[in-house]
Amino acid sequence: MKVMKFGGTSVGSAQRMKDVCRLITKDGLPNMVVLSAMSGTTNTLVEISDYLYKKNPEGANNVIKQLERKYQQHVEELYATEEYKQKTLDFLKEEFDYLRSFTKILFTSFEEKIILAQGEIISTNMVTNYLKECGVKVILLSALDFMRTDKNAEPDLNYIKEKIGEQLKAHPDYDIYITQGFICRNAYGEVDNLLRGGSDYTACLIGAALMSEEIQIWTDIDGMHNNDPRVVNHTEPVRQLHFEEAAELAYFGAKILHPTCIQPAKFAGVPVRLLNTMDPSAPGTIINNEIQHGKIKAVAAKDHITSIQIQSSRMLLAYGFLRKVFEIFESYKTSIDMVSTSEVGVSVTIDNTSYLKDIIADLMKYGTVTVHEDMCIICVVGDLNWENVGFESLAAQALKEIPVQMISYGGSSHNISFLVKEADKKRALQAFSDTLFNA
Ligand code: ADP
Ligand code: ASP
Ligand code: MG
Repeated sequence: MKVMKFGGTSVGSAQRMKDVCRLITKDGLPNMVVLSAMSGTTNTLVEISDYLYKKNPEGANNVIKQLERKYQQHVEELYATEEYKQKTLDFLKEEFDYLRSFTKILFTSFEEKIILAQGEIISTNMVTNYLKECGVKVILLSALDFMRTDKNAEPDLNYIKEKIGEQLKAHPDYDIYITQGFICRNAYGEVDNLLRGGSDYTACLIGAALMSEEIQIWTDIDGMHNNDPRVVNHTEPVRQLHFEEAAELAYFGAKILHPTCIQPAKFAGVPVRLLNTMDPSAPGTIINNEIQHGKIKAVAAKDHITSIQIQSSRMLLAYGFLRKVFEIFESYKTSIDMVSTSEVGVSVTIDNTSYLKDIIADLMKYGTVTVHEDMCIICVVGDLNWENVGFESLAAQALKEIPVQMISYGGSSHNISFLVKEADKKRALQAFSDTLFNA
């Protein structure tokens, strides 16, 4: 069974939904299909929640009304028969009345999670109804019945495996199984989600749980490009990536993939293929276990980074110093991305600054602390095994005119990272493309 995930743009209009239905019923059935909310919907649900947090039910109701009208229009365009139009309109009426009910109750983060879940609940219902209207043997499986995170907010793969197995056993003989991306329950059974962009993660978790033959991520671009196409001119698709390379690119900012979605596919050894819904015959990118020796594949950038330099108060770095420093970050549940050490100190970067003040106060017991905000990690990815000569000088050459605060290499043989100012990001990414890929 293949797992096919379609992102927001891919299901962004009635016509796109019809195109998706053609793609998923084309061959190799049965397929497990994971859908995002229609593009823009999750942002609108966030907007509704913001009004409710600010105790502005009128503002929320206006946005709900506008969204409802949009969906009624989609229904008009999607279905051919009155029966399915009416069925879906009835479903939408219930959904939007449900959203309106939140304007009358106390609003907390629990209610927000429920509101954010409705985008995927609506899109999967609409597509399932369309497939039923077309006579396809389709069933909608609620992700809330099998996607779960544990007490550390990490996906509970054993539970997911068991529950999705039960669902498939209870519903054999369907050609298409549809489910929602992004949404799940937490360890306490409450509605939750896998963070923004999380539908990719859902697809990879299901693919790993089912040991599926392939996980396909269908989106609006022809695979992973060698640099961020939103920032840089002349980027090219990369046809093949090793799991580790894709994982590094996703984690360090390649928006085409959710930051941690490659991990489950990598552990299960299930290949991931990135494909373009707007151009289905384009080859896209395959992510698997193969290495192309000595090749630099792509560059990605992660914004909103804070760097912290700690200079030891002793002349030489005493043993135990690094442990104490790292324990402080651990105690505030703050992950470190880059690390660089010298005889007298250590520099680290973080992206979660919720506890920055407390972290700095604790670090000051061990030395002088300097902080830089609005920094950006640029990560160059490929087969960067230390015995391959020349890639470090090539990468450094690209940045010859840009101030670099930190460099990190050696933690992985697939990544060399540079910390620059966020203001220099565009210049730095373009310089990498010009030097590494377009020279
Ligand atoms: P979806 O809604 O299908 O999940 P996303 O918007 O999350 O789609 O991801 C696709 C977008 O990612 C592309 O349109 C592109 O602008 C952006 N993107 C950023 N970096 C890359 C990259 N290196 N390669 C391809 N796309 C990228
Ligand atoms: N709909 C969610 C979002 O917009 C999840 C996803 O599209 O992957 O973040
Ligand atoms: Mg996405």
